[in-house]
Amino acid sequence: MTAPRLEINLDKIRHNATTLVESLKLKGISVTGVTKATLGSFEIADVFLESGVHALGDSRIENIESMYRARGPAPMTLIRSPMLSQVQRVVKYADMSFNTELDVIRELSSAARKENRGHGIVLMVELGDLREGVMPRDLGLIVRETLRLPNIVLKGIGTNLACRSGVIPDARNMDELSSLADSIESTFDRSLDIVSGGNSANLQWALGSSSVGRINDVRLGESILLGREPLHRQPIDGLFTDAIVLTAEVIESKVKPSQPWGNIAQTAFGVAAPVTDRGRIAQTIMAIGQQDTDPSGLIPPNGIEILSASSDHLITDSDGRLIPVGTELAFQLNYSALLRSMTSPFVAKVVKTERDNLAASCSQ
Ligand SMILES: *Cc1c(COP(=O)(O)O)cnc(C)c1O
Repeated sequence: MTAPRLEINLDKIRHNATTLVESLKLKGISVTGVTKATLGSFEIADVFLESGVHALGDSRIENIESMYRARGPAPMTLIRSPMLSQVQRVVKYADMSFNTELDVIRELSSAARKENRGHGIVLMVELGDLREGVMPRDLGLIVRETLRLPNIVLKGIGTNLACRSGVIPDARNMDELSSLADSIESTFDRSLDIVSGGNSANLQWALGSSSVGRINDVRLGESILLGREPLHRQPIDGLFTDAIVLTAEVIESKVKPSQPWGNIAQTAFGVAAPVTDRGRIAQTIMAIGQQDTDPSGLIPPNGIEILSASSDHLITDSDGRLIPVGTELAFQLNYSALLRSMTSPFVAKVVKTERDNLAASCSQ
């Protein structure tokens, strides 16, 4: 089979998604399934929807369009503020978008009028992580203006934490979001459908709190795909962390010194980290590199240690074993490695289900 390849196990993704949807349902929270790390894979989108997510969320209109073309309409939310240059595409393919700029919402309104359709808006509020969001004191103003715009429906408010600065979702910032929702409802005498509390980093708060206030939606990507929570990157109990693995092929296997020799200057990617001398090692080179993934985000199989990587070579210490060329090894990935592998044209994407595994084992 072709290598390198991402092996995507739809049954494990389904298990992860269903488990999270069901435990959050007990708290009154529904899930937007975030597809941005899957390059708009319609197979993964289908699994998300079959697992009970109430909408798909993606940060790229291109992904939303390709899911639309591949599988037809589903509730889709653009979870990054639309570019002015893309508003026409946004109102055509997304039912809803996350917004922070009145200029953009005005343009969405005229684009929606031209398309003769409505477009939902979730206003994002800044609660400390310093990425997107209206400052809380400015929220009332932007709500007032948004409510005046034709073909625009204010669906709710949301926030995003733990992405740029690592701010932890907790009772304090989540209560603030709930109070903002209450105060908008009473000031403008209307109800908000959506109060979207955040991303996979919200799970600990959501599942561990006795009351989640007004929060009734979270947007989950990493936790479903990789089975880990992003605050400390710990595995989540009961979920698979190997629903997606990156398989690569050995192209050189030799006993070599662990220390380079000759005069040393910079490497292809800057200054090399100092190497500790561990004598002679079994050095195994895999045919993957910076062009295929984020090598620092790979979790190697037992008995393999990643030493370094260049554009096309991953150099490992295979603990005294000479692994024959042609051998394939499977690595688990962190979010950054997953994103880069998904978007690399050099990495094949192979979607598997339990049925395929059974068929494969029967035909052997
Ligand atoms: C990427 C993203 C998410 C999903 O984050 P995960 O950590 O993958 O769950 C949610 N909301 C917004 C706004 C995002 O950009």
